[in-house]
Amino acid sequence: CGIVGYIGHRQAYPIILKGLKRLEYRGYDSAGIALYDGKTIKLSKTKGKVADLQDKLENEISTEGTIGIGHTRWATHGVPNDVNSHPHYSNSGDLVIIHNGIIENYDALKTELKKRGYTFTSDTDTEVLVNLIEEVKTKENVKLGKAVQLALNQTIGAYAIAVFDKNKPDEIIVARLGSPLAIGVGEDEFFIASDASPFIEYTNNAIYLEDGEMAIVRRGKEVKVRKIKDDTSVDPYLQELQLNLEQ
Ligand code: GLU
Repeated sequence: CGIVGYIGHRQAYPIILKGLKRLEYRGYDSAGIALYDGKTIKLSKTKGKVADLQDKLENEISTEGTIGIGHTRWATHGVPNDVNSHPHYSNSGDLVIIHNGIIENYDALKTELKKRGYTFTSDTDTEVLVNLIEEVKTKENVKLGKAVQLALNQTIGAYAIAVFDKNKPDEIIVARLGSPLAIGVGEDEFFIASDASPFIEYTNNAIYLEDGEMAIVRRGKEVKVRKIKDDTSVDPYLQELQLNLEQ
């Protein structure tokens, strides 16, 4: 399973697609990509291989867009099928998320969200998380980053996530606990991935999030890293990647 994201000046789709192929070694049963083209979020996902996704996606949606997220899923909650594949929308359709890991208390959270009128199209724990973020964001009237932080504090489990809001499509929020997540820092562009292999040819500067950290990755801004638990800021540690020339 793996996650890839891009925000910058290039077309996101080819970078994400190639990135997902590089992460195939991690194992997966489904794949999907969401892209934002300046107007709307377009999403395509399928059970099967990244090559199957490519065929489906290119027939289904336009690949235009300079921000996007992609996912390979290793199903834990809900069988491998198209609907359970990631990305997942929130109920309003404003938020879109990818997630590797498990939200262990998803059932209790889902029951609460249902009482508040939320509906679910998939059987995944991930769709519960994106709606929890939406609920917190609306109820507390906070920015997406804060909503993610508050929502994650209600969860038990493990995750690497990337989420963005179509009303604020200049930023991607990422967080990690128990699943790896790296941010490639280029010139006016950022890459997000489970490991550095999807972005190694674009930049050799990366921030590896530690467990319990989240980051606000905003177009044209410095990456802000914060602790999920208490929302304190952390100085991002920019690491220089070593190219392995024998590879
Ligand atoms: N628990 C999530 C699901 O089953 C994510 C699985 C994964 O790590 O890919 O959809």
